[in-house]
Amino acid sequence: MSVVPRGWRAVLCWFFVSAVAVACAPKRVRENDGPPGMISFPRTAADSAKAPPQPDVPPMPREEPPPPRAEGARDVRVALATAAQGAVLSGTGAFRIFDAKNAVLVRARGPDAWTVERRGRQLRATRQGTSTSWSDGVLTLRSDREDEFGVFAAQRYRGAIRVVASDTGVVVVNVLPVEWYLRGVVPLEIGGPRAGNEEAAVEAQAIAARSYTVVRLAAIEGGTSRNANYDMLSSVADQVYGGADAERPFSNQAVARTIGLVLRYNGRVVSAPYHSTCGGETAEPDEVWRSANEPFLQRVSDRIPGTSDRFYCDISPRFSWTRSLTGDELDAAVRAYLASYTTVPAGGAGHVRGATVESRTPSGRVARLIIAAERGNFSLRGNDIRYVLRTPGGEILNSTYFSVQTESRRDGSLARLVVKGNGYGHGIGMCQWGAIGRARAGQSARAILATYYPGTTVGLMN
Ligand SMILES: [Zn+2]
Repeated sequence: MSVVPRGWRAVLCWFFVSAVAVACAPKRVRENDGPPGMISFPRTAADSAKAPPQPDVPPMPREEPPPPRAEGARDVRVALATAAQGAVLSGTGAFRIFDAKNAVLVRARGPDAWTVERRGRQLRATRQGTSTSWSDGVLTLRSDREDEFGVFAAQRYRGAIRVVASDTGVVVVNVLPVEWYLRGVVPLEIGGPRAGNEEAAVEAQAIAARSYTVVRLAAIEGGTSRNANYDMLSSVADQVYGGADAERPFSNQAVARTIGLVLRYNGRVVSAPYHSTCGGETAEPDEVWRSANEPFLQRVSDRIPGTSDRFYCDISPRFSWTRSLTGDELDAAVRAYLASYTTVPAGGAGHVRGATVESRTPSGRVARLIIAAERGNFSLRGNDIRYVLRTPGGEILNSTYFSVQTESRRDGSLARLVVKGNGYGHGIGMCQWGAIGRARAGQSARAILATYYPGTTVGLMN
């Protein structure tokens, strides 16, 4: 599993559903996620990387009605592209393109593709030499029927596709009801398909993802949104979203069974962080992030009662792992990434001589790692460690739940750093593989959520 690039997982899931079940494991989620309620999450280019286009999937049956909407939340605005220069839009059926005042500019059908061009803050739609007049700000594609889809970048989307002009380009945003959005999120976040005895884990995932979404929607009303044009990104920076092409029956059913349900603590909806694999015990936020703890985010053991060495998430392909970096590879990683996380003298840290764990958090994760190099010792904290000890390909470290061994050459230089670890992800909140293990053991979605988010209750959005 570790050799499968994350972005291709959905592709593998589609092509090799039965053969590569392990590739469909819960994926790393929201690696740079902040604590609940925190609005500005630090992000890196790696977090914002878009998944490659998904392969074509058979058209959905036209007789299938659009999914139900839940009461209590406005439509969500998901950014599909934030730095495009234009956009090519089409639809699976008849569609129209509207201007900012909701006047119809284009009536079109099926596969006809219209290119949205930008001139300053103005946009127009063009096809085969025919253009609309320039109009201010926003163009919106809507299908004539709710069971048809808009198409952007070879992927199908429910609801509307909105193109917004900015000073530097266009932002492409999918605007749709929360329940429709979740159908394109849950299968990518929990992996799958999941078997019947894993349904409770998928339901728990749907409720956690809905809670996160509702908190993000509230952020814009609170004036703390990252961007006025959208509520969320479609990447791991928020929740991975693949539109209608990502939808699968097992996850659609879980979204439908939990319609409108969110997680609350003391009455307020909470943004419920989750991760792939805790590796034995979940973490409290301040063990990993620079943030205050929350009463519903406590350390939770994933040990199976009555056993000494079995854990609910030990079915994860990354329950335990080893990463080995040569001295040269570690030098390169330190050269590329260290200065983003600690103060490094001009000219760099020089060759790395060793690395030692200075302190651990209460759950056993590395709190501080000291990197000894030619030009000094450099201290890294918490999740930052994962962004420095990258592979030559740039993949971050699976978790901070690890120990290190070093091998030196005869001249004292570092030959190799071996990192042996457990788990995958930040370790806070719900452990997705643990949820799957608990579902297999017969636990309900509510029981799973009550375990990973102590003191919370499940209730309707409003
Ligand atoms: Zn776990």
